[in-house]
Amino acid sequence: MAAGNWKMNTTPSEGQALAEGIITAAGPPATKVVFGVPAIQLMQIKEITAKHEGYYVAAQNMHHEDKGAYTGELSAAMLADAGIDYVILGHSERRDYFGEDDHLINTKINKALAAGILPIYCCGEKLDIREAGSHEMIVGKQIEQALFSLAPEQMEQVVIAYEPVWAIGTGVTASPQQAQDMHQFIRTQIANQFGQSVADGTTILYGGSVKPANAEELFSMPDVDGGLVGGASLSAENFVPIIKAL
Ligand code: PGA
Repeated sequence: MAAGNWKMNTTPSEGQALAEGIITAAGPPATKVVFGVPAIQLMQIKEITAKHEGYYVAAQNMHHEDKGAYTGELSAAMLADAGIDYVILGHSERRDYFGEDDHLINTKINKALAAGILPIYCCGEKLDIREAGSHEMIVGKQIEQALFSLAPEQMEQVVIAYEPVWAIGTGVTASPQQAQDMHQFIRTQIANQFGQSVADGTTILYGGSVKPANAEELFSMPDVDGGLVGGASLSAENFVPIIKAL
């Protein structure tokens, strides 16, 4: 899977041109391609992806309550009714700037699944944790708190994105071996909790400064099933080679 996370970067007209440009240049993809778009563009981009097999649209966030007095928020039911395929949950920017923790994210994952939207669950450690050698412990805790209460058939619907925070938007990419080691660790955690076949079927994406120059090497690692791409998803020139690297 190649998932783009446009973050707060595209206006509706820019987003439309970007999606159309990528689809035209990449053609029918050999992997699932997901556009994670600003809320205001969800239905517009869905209309475009619906016409092209292999292309999907994701929301970048979702509220954890069903409905009510939550000014400015979107519910799972709204996304589902609009035909949105995926929702990115627990991105490090949501954790850092909006105080989201794994208990809240667990609630959101349950709401998304109940509505028929597939969660892309983001986890990953900060630089000080990596330097202290505690990254497996911290990511293991994130996985446990956000995912272990799910039923195996729910877990089968979840995509995991490992995004070391020190690699997001920094130009510093995890080495293919660092990515592989963590992805293998995550898959083992999933296997221990949900069984080997669920673990084998789980898509685990790497995110953090993925670019055309490093995509192929990262994706060649056995437990790296694709990428969640920020900056390099904002142009066809950069994102199409990443799609084609899969
Ligand atoms: P980046 O962002 O590719 O710009 O590092 C990745 C992400 O935040 O999902």
